Amino acid sequence: MVVVIDVLSFLHGCAFTDPPRGGARPARRMGHVDGRWVEVGDGVLARRYAELDLTVGLVIGADRALVVDTRGDARQGVELAAAVRETTALPLVVAITHAHFDHCFGTAAFLPAPVHALPVCREVLAATADAQRSEWVAHYRSRGDDLTADSLATTDPPLPDSPAPAELDLGGRVVDLRHLGRGHTDHDLVAHVPDAGMVFAGDLVEQGAPPAFEDAVVAEWPGTLTALLGLGPRVVVPGHGDPVDRAFVAEQRDRLTEVAELHAAVARGDLEAAEAAARSPYPDVPWP
Ligand SMILES: [Zn+2]
Repeated sequence: MVVVIDVLSFLHGCAFTDPPRGGARPARRMGHVDGRWVEVGDGVLARRYAELDLTVGLVIGADRALVVDTRGDARQGVELAAAVRETTALPLVVAITHAHFDHCFGTAAFLPAPVHALPVCREVLAATADAQRSEWVAHYRSRGDDLTADSLATTDPPLPDSPAPAELDLGGRVVDLRHLGRGHTDHDLVAHVPDAGMVFAGDLVEQGAPPAFEDAVVAEWPGTLTALLGLGPRVVVPGHGDPVDRAFVAEQRDRLTEVAELHAAVARGDLEAAEAAARSPYPDVPWP
């Protein structure tokens, strides 16, 4: 079922308080039934999940539909593929925003659809899939979520098979697949839907929890978000959390600028890391 909402009242109703400080992502629970479509533009949908507060996307053209990210294991990918099939019967194309497991381990359910990503994303996924699987299987076991642990343990994620084209023609609408710069990772891909004023940002933008720094290029992240804002989006769909507006992205960019400046001060020897972490706008997030 597609939940059709007025996007502006949706945005004003739920997303625009200050980004919360602290709180580890795995602890987040949304309290709604897992898997919920939200129409954020004409033929542009976001699908929201309680698990990791994940958000994936679907862009429907006249000839093809684009799936943005595939969830975190084979079972979750099957769920998403079935939900997509309830929405459209068009041939599918997949784009992967980055190589973190929760965004791309569900890809098998979409094959033989072409799977677009940056070449670096393919390399990183090939190099890190085993370690990501081990880490997160242990995480789900520790939480007593054996269903997810078992599925993830047996998931061998297909690698993206096609470099992301700058322009992806879905028939009647074009989606721009862009690397705007490094930030959350060194291979972040965004999907820009110009005719809808929409950007799927992957984890370059997070709503509901702080940005994640473990693979980040902190110094370059603010500039990448400035480039994203330069696309002039009306709505930005984050990789985790609810869709947001430009003001939210600008505020997150400014906070990341503070983090980058603190990071640089530590690198110069002007500031102790502990003091920098205490001054960070995200004080509970492990220091990058
Ligand atoms: Zn990520």
